[in-house]
Amino acid sequence: MTPPALEVRNLHKRYGDLEVLKGVDLLARDGDVISILGSSGSGKSTLLRCINLLENPHQGQINRLRARVGFVFQSFNLWPHMTILDNIIEAPRRVLGQSKADAIAAAEVFLEKVGIADKRHAYPAQLSGGQQQRAAIARTLAMKPQVILFDEPTSALDPEMVNEVLMVIRALAEEGRTMLLVTHEMGFARQVSSQVVFLHQGQVEEIGTPEQVFDNPASERCRQFMSSHK
Ligand code: ADP
Ligand code: MG
Repeated sequence: MTPPALEVRNLHKRYGDLEVLKGVDLLARDGDVISILGSSGSGKSTLLRCINLLENPHQGQINRLRARVGFVFQSFNLWPHMTILDNIIEAPRRVLGQSKADAIAAAEVFLEKVGIADKRHAYPAQLSGGQQQRAAIARTLAMKPQVILFDEPTSALDPEMVNEVLMVIRALAEEGRTMLLVTHEMGFARQVSSQVVFLHQGQVEEIGTPEQVFDNPASERCRQFMSSHK
């Protein structure tokens, strides 16, 4: 067994009277790729946002044994007034204190990795959605994350651009990176995941290997969800 990277225990989160997470447990080990599936409103984003410390849980623990956690949003969130290169080097310079030369050298490697090296001097609006999301992934990688959280990274994309982003995520999985991935791309989740979690109304309804969760779920709700997302 590889060491644990992230452990969530009995996580509860409310918005007013609405209890969105009702005691979620989750363990990611180094190198795990955990896909989180579930209907809209089941609490997937809230779970990732709690793990990324963007929300305060009401109860429970989040133990980040790997402290550096990166986040890739559905909506890319690139800074529109900065070039792609400047988007990537901004946080490493300001937060990690890298020199400009070091940050640029590292950025070039990540731009190459996500296949948009030729766009380094372009502005986000000049890129397609798929290219923008790949730039956002490069920006996340530049912060040297030990765990990467993806919240529906392809949901805002035109269908023809989904694959280019999934290929980048697949390459990261093959590098052995530890990742949590909220996605509706079932075929992809099945291929890349070490574990699949099915959330229902703020609770883990089913968890297991892709084979277990996709082919032989114990929960009837999970079964229904899978058959309606084929
Ligand atoms: P998912 O990502 O699975 O679609 P979310 O975690 O975004 O689900 O949302 C779970 C529930 O929490 C939904 O009912 C949503 O409306 C509610 N919710 C999410 N964020 C907030 C917020 N900031 N304030 C109030 N309610 C919220
Ligand atoms: Mg969501």
